[in-house]
Amino acid sequence: MSEDTIFGKIARGEAEANIVYEDDMCLAFRDLYPAAPMHILLIPRKPIPRLCDASAADQALLGHLMLTANKIAEQEGLGDKFRLVVNNGEGAGQSVFHLHLHIIGGRPLKWPPG
Ligand code: AMP
Repeated sequence: MSEDTIFGKIARGEAEANIVYEDDMCLAFRDLYPAAPMHILLIPRKPIPRLCDASAADQALLGHLMLTANKIAEQEGLGDKFRLVVNNGEGAGQSVFHLHLHIIGGRPLKWPPG
């Protein structure tokens, strides 16, 4: 689970991605298989496998990810109509074990998500 992932490679510039935002702590790129007209993945540069692997030392980083998601939603024209999703663990649908926030929008979003 602590192995390198495709997202780690993207973060290091070793794999291609359609990057829409970068700073010293995180980066965001378009999902290869979008679930909505707007589907962006926001990842920390630090390779935390799952949200449940984060610790108190990651508090500022996690806060930064949330505020950066706001910034990206604004940048991409989503206004206040977007959803953030974190799939934690295989049983919850996580398939890439490098923490990521899905930023989803551009269509009506139903609840519960299923
Ligand atoms: P999750 O199932 O929460 O782990 O989400 C992983 C997401 O990564 C899925 O929505 C995939 O479509 C997406 N994905 C997988 N590989 C890539 C890639 N190389 N570039 C962009 N998105 C990817």
